[in-house]
Amino acid sequence: MTSTKTLLERNARFAASFDDAELPIIPKLRSVILACTDARVDPAHIFGLELGDSVVMRNNGARLTPSMLDEVITLSYLVDKLEGGSHSPFEFVLVQHTKCGAERFADPEFRRMLLEQTGVDVSVSAIEDHHESLREDVARLRDDPRVPGHITVAALLYDVDTGTVEEVVAPVAVDELRATRQPVM
Ligand SMILES: [Zn+2]
Repeated sequence: MTSTKTLLERNARFAASFDDAELPIIPKLRSVILACTDARVDPAHIFGLELGDSVVMRNNGARLTPSMLDEVITLSYLVDKLEGGSHSPFEFVLVQHTKCGAERFADPEFRRMLLEQTGVDVSVSAIEDHHESLREDVARLRDDPRVPGHITVAALLYDVDTGTVEEVVAPVAVDELRATRQPVM
């Protein structure tokens, strides 16, 4: 049996009792979650998300890379257009996790081999210390002038051994971060 065949069978069971045709495009929790691609950290499971609850974006390491920043900015613009330019707040939640494969990107030799053999540079995704890189990503969001200030940002660390989440950066408005110019705590 192929993986796709398994997925199609599971979808047939899902569609048999499907009852969510009228969900609004704006997520109910007004949240955008950035999580790692790791199969063990699916936000739908660890946060008990239902369909329509949250936007979920994923990449290797859940790092706020330039392409992810573009996604956030595009989503902000789209939401604001859909809501008639009301600048209604929504929350951007960064979720890294322990025992992440992106910790290997911190090894210069691993990065060098990957770049040499595939042409892919993962230096912006390297994770030496999860607390540090979460704060760095909050700062990347704060420091990009294209990011609207009415967005709130928070950073969490999920523990794959216990299923628990640590709040590393409590929710704070980007405007507030910019006004105080304090280091991200
Ligand atoms: Zn990971």
